[in-house]
Amino acid sequence: MINGNLPKVAYFCMEYGMESSFKMYAGGLGILAGDYLKGAYDHNYPIIGIGIKWKQGYGDQIIGKDNYPYDAYHNYEYKFLKDTGVKVKVRIRSRDVWCKVWLTDHFKNAPLYLLDTDLPENEDTWISGQLYGGFEEERIAQEMVLGIGGVRALRQLGIDVDVYHFNEGHAVFAGLELIREQMEQGVSFQKALEHCCERVVFTTHTPILQGNEEHCLEPLFYMGANNGLSHEQMVSIGGAPFNMTVAALRLSRIANAVADLHRVTANKMWAHIDRRAEIIGITNAIHLPTWVDPNMIEAAQANDLQRLWEQHQHNKRNLIEFVKERNGVELDPNVLLVGFARRAAPYKRSDLIFRDESTIKPLLENGKIQFIFAGKAHPLDDVGKGIVARLVKISRQYPNAVVFLENYDMKIAEMMTRGVDIWLNNPRRPLEASGTSGMKAAMNGVLNCSILDGWWPEACQHGINGWQFGDGFESPNEWTQDEHDLKALIKVLLNEVMPTYYRDQEKWVKMMQASILSTKDTFAVKRMLDEYYNKMYTKRGDCVECPERAAQIEEEVQRSR
Ligand SMILES: *Cc1c(COP(=O)(O)O)cnc(C)c1O
Repeated sequence: MINGNLPKVAYFCMEYGMESSFKMYAGGLGILAGDYLKGAYDHNYPIIGIGIKWKQGYGDQIIGKDNYPYDAYHNYEYKFLKDTGVKVKVRIRSRDVWCKVWLTDHFKNAPLYLLDTDLPENEDTWISGQLYGGFEEERIAQEMVLGIGGVRALRQLGIDVDVYHFNEGHAVFAGLELIREQMEQGVSFQKALEHCCERVVFTTHTPILQGNEEHCLEPLFYMGANNGLSHEQMVSIGGAPFNMTVAALRLSRIANAVADLHRVTANKMWAHIDRRAEIIGITNAIHLPTWVDPNMIEAAQANDLQRLWEQHQHNKRNLIEFVKERNGVELDPNVLLVGFARRAAPYKRSDLIFRDESTIKPLLENGKIQFIFAGKAHPLDDVGKGIVARLVKISRQYPNAVVFLENYDMKIAEMMTRGVDIWLNNPRRPLEASGTSGMKAAMNGVLNCSILDGWWPEACQHGINGWQFGDGFESPNEWTQDEHDLKALIKVLLNEVMPTYYRDQEKWVKMMQASILSTKDTFAVKRMLDEYYNKMYTKRGDCVECPERAAQIEEEVQRSR
């Protein structure tokens, strides 16, 4: 039963991580969207998802004989998709593109509508081919299907919507469709813009300036993404070049960052943008039934520390078996096992710990520590692929102590966040927006050992439910910051993590319990849903020109410096 009084929300996202084999996701953004929809279903919130049915998904990434990652694409079909009978038309590059609308409620019944351009009547079947594939024009076309096609799909399906939630800037053209609908009825641009702002909320995810997508006006007009708006109107929304995040901040009544530290970072980043929505902080969360072993939660709540340890060792042996099947390597269940699974991006510094080889080498060779790494690089990112290749090379140097699992996906994430002892995270602060994999680990009794970035400053009680290192240090000089953080990492590993693991198991198990009990409610998706409803969906703020609000935000940012 759906709670009838709550605003009805259409959630727009490029990717959805519902299940490992349903290849509609690339990484954290999609996992969040999938967890959110499943949570909405579990807790009776009227939220539906709008996305794209990707024919080939994000692609697989396999390590070649030369230890380098290679991308492989396959066509997938899903028998459980239901045909809604609805087709909508979007005009892209002066051609009509039909988008068929599929429904899936296969995953915990969370309703997800997916648009598909791979139809015999289309010339442009490729648009829904590869998630984040292709360059500028391909990306614009995909975003037009998601945004413009998404709104049209809702109209034809007859679904009433009170709030349009843009999860990341990819969905911004949905705002241009809301504006077009109004203007077609004779409403002025200004009034149509206000109408749009009253109904749209926006979540930003990227604390790296270059990660915020921008397009020159020329290709946007050529593709038809302006949706009837003039050059001047487009510039007033997204600037020139047209920045998707800036546009989303100006088309929404309120926006949010995905952790409290990220809120501060995002407000600094966009401080110079006028006529924008306020950015508040709502920390991400996870769907427990998807990620957490219920036996671990039960044992922690029952204060049964013996069972807690045994269940953890059981999960660790499962992971070790999984690794053996995949890589032929047999890890030791009695040796400290560190997990690190991240997208291969330079700021995540996957190989940081190996930059102090003189310390780490003897520990690996003497069987004191083991590592499992996983993570894909973006198919067009050669730097990221270099990082993967380096990790693979290290795993060849220490074949019994370092493992790289290729083709990171939800299955690998599930196995790792249940079965390792330590979840290592060492991004260059403050560039990690949230980091939900750490939440999965924490609730499975896997202790976080992390830089104070993303969600971790909100959860960390050092030496009680996990460890921090680096003390929140930041430097504009990357070399200085890397040196500082590496020293801090080695120090906490040698002086705290390893001695506790090998010499004070009682304390270790207590920390596992504290990790579970201190995170299982605060970072569960129910809390996140409640916050979105209370702070974003039911709140009716004004959206355009609010100098008072801008001053408030500025003050807050100044204070946080
Ligand atoms: C949880 C998850 C993520 C997100 O993890 P981060 O902590 O943001 O790196 C990414 N990919 C997969 C497959 C996941 O399960």
